[in-house]
Amino acid sequence: MEKTIALLPGDGIGKEVLKVTVDVLKAIEEHFHHQFQFQYGLIGGDAIDQTGTPLPDETVEICKNADAVLLGAVGGPKWDSNPPALRPEKGLLGIRKQLDLYANLRPIITFQSLLDESALKREYIDGVDFIVVRELTGGLYFGEPSERITKDGEEGAVDTLIYKRSEIKRIIVSAFEMASKRRKHVTSVDKANVLETSRLWREIAEEVAKDYPDVTLEHMLVDNAAMQLINAPKRFDVIVTENMFGDILSDEASMITGSLGMLPSASLSSTGLHLYEPVHGSAPDIAGQNIANPTAMILSAAMMLRHSFDLENEAKVLEDAVNQVLQSGKRTADLAKGGPSISTEQLAEEIKAII
Ligand code: ATP
Ligand code: MG
Repeated sequence: MEKTIALLPGDGIGKEVLKVTVDVLKAIEEHFHHQFQFQYGLIGGDAIDQTGTPLPDETVEICKNADAVLLGAVGGPKWDSNPPALRPEKGLLGIRKQLDLYANLRPIITFQSLLDESALKREYIDGVDFIVVRELTGGLYFGEPSERITKDGEEGAVDTLIYKRSEIKRIIVSAFEMASKRRKHVTSVDKANVLETSRLWREIAEEVAKDYPDVTLEHMLVDNAAMQLINAPKRFDVIVTENMFGDILSDEASMITGSLGMLPSASLSSTGLHLYEPVHGSAPDIAGQNIANPTAMILSAAMMLRHSFDLENEAKVLEDAVNQVLQSGKRTADLAKGGPSISTEQLAEEIKAII
């Protein structure tokens, strides 16, 4: 199979974890006789330094001409005092808009060998395997107006929670599609007892559910969902929710598995060009030391193989290799609890050796 992959390393450990992930992908390429073309683009602080903008047009072009995008991470203290338009994070928001990435997927799976890393008890998390599907381009974060106002003669502020029917429908359809390939259960999270957008959301979820008779739909209020994630995480298969609820719940859910360095994500576009990135950021505190855990980035690449290229077997081989290395007890510093640890590059080498 021939595929072009756009690589946006970004800043800090983003560069380090993407570099070794490319090595791992080359091992997959060789083992399975595929041809991957890698095209590099600048984004974030690195792009600001080299071109004066966090998202150069050339980067957008490189992405649009590719079959999938892999992104490291953006940001760092160097650019923290930049004016808003020249913040590295603008690059990330920009590429989401440019590629119309409307659904963010975060799989939450516990690793057998990491059951004691979680803040939660083993018996609660052993066997957790669900996916959070967060709406990414609408809702409160993008609604207008969003500004300071005067209310009853006093200073106030307003944000707007707004959704179109089509925006809600496409994210819910994505969730049902995913559930139909999994354990066939969708939990739609809202606040329908208070919000009109949530009542529309529920209505549309019910309509979509009619097209998937073998998938069960349940509705859950967001406050209850926050509680259930801690109390009974095993009950979930696919969780679908709007932008802000998803932002909060997916960070909460990420703590179930333990380390930020383990968590991949995918952002899906209706054009079929999807973007994959680790959940963690650029981690300036450990950047440049070859100690970052590259697993989240490597598992993001596995998601790319599965969702963008339909290479289920290759994705599985990669995920199994990650698991085997974990089982063998070899860990990067974030998981080593002060004991012996291996470097970013060494971990990738161990994974490659198994492929
Ligand atoms: P952002 O705002 O970009 O999301 P953040 O402030 O949330 O960034 P991260 O960069 O995600 O922070 O890092 C949070 C903490 O987790 C830091 O102490 C960092 O060193 C650690 N960390 C994050 N990713 C990894 C990784 N892959 N390996 C090891 N430690 C990591
Ligand atoms: Mg963060």
